[in-house]
Amino acid sequence: MGMPVSLTKTFAKVSEHAGSLAETTEKDPASAAVQLDRVTKIYGATTAIDDVSFAVHPGEVVVLLGRSGSGKTTIFRCITRLAMVESGDIQVFGRSIHHLSRGELLEMRRSLGLIFQQFNLIGRLSSINNVLAGRLGHVSTLAAALRRFSTADRQRALAALDRVGLLEKAYQRADSLSGGQQQRVAIARVLTQESRVILADEPVASLDPKAAHTVLRILREVAHERKLAVLCSLHQVDLARAYADRIIGMSHGRVQFDIPAKRFSDEAMISLYGRLTDDEEET
Ligand code: ADP
Ligand code: MG
Repeated sequence: MGMPVSLTKTFAKVSEHAGSLAETTEKDPASAAVQLDRVTKIYGATTAIDDVSFAVHPGEVVVLLGRSGSGKTTIFRCITRLAMVESGDIQVFGRSIHHLSRGELLEMRRSLGLIFQQFNLIGRLSSINNVLAGRLGHVSTLAAALRRFSTADRQRALAALDRVGLLEKAYQRADSLSGGQQQRVAIARVLTQESRVILADEPVASLDPKAAHTVLRILREVAHERKLAVLCSLHQVDLARAYADRIIGMSHGRVQFDIPAKRFSDEAMISLYGRLTDDEEET
């Protein structure tokens, strides 16, 4: 499509560079895949996120943990520029997202793979066709309209389904799969899209515990294998502790803490929930 090739190259080059640095200079801001710097977003009388700063590096799973209304979804909306921020800056691979041309914005969005609570697959399409939808940014509009994907793209899609353990479901309708399987198809789609960043907003909120563990285990594995930066919101503390490399605790739109998962403590729990359990309301 008529997208500026130079930007594709820039993103690819910067992300490669960042990937190789991630081990040695974890806190180097220049190596961040996504960086928020003092971001504030206000809806009417509500400050949805308030002076939020953090970075996500390639190969790292960062969990946004917090109760309902703490600002998690707003952070995702700001990063994808579905919401414009009041103040502060957001960078994706070192480029501010607030001064992009339309073409550059599309290119930036393509580098972000999105996974939602509601599986957002097309139910009547097979798994493989849902996964191939991840290639749409890469093929011509005409080919896309005709669903004419190359053999290489099909092989890529099958490999991605294999990676999430669903090769045998490739030709089954998406709406005949369980919730956990649908979410794994969504991961396969993001892998096929070749995004460098995965943004997953409550990806396991609609799943039973066993499926939730499987989906998060796969997310964590692909992040580490492929040096993808994963930002994932959750509201279950046990899942955050089990699968995050880092946990960012959100409360009332503010970052309460940003710590390695293994350092999560009773005090951290209390700062988010005001007590030592998180078993309440929540959606
Ligand atoms: P979470 O995802 O952690 O549940 P949200 O980011 O959805 O939290 O919401 C944070 C706060 O911003 C809440 O108080 C919510 O009511 C408010 N909010 C979010 N989106 C909107 C909107 N489009 N209009 C008005 N208020 C909103
Ligand atoms: Mg939310």
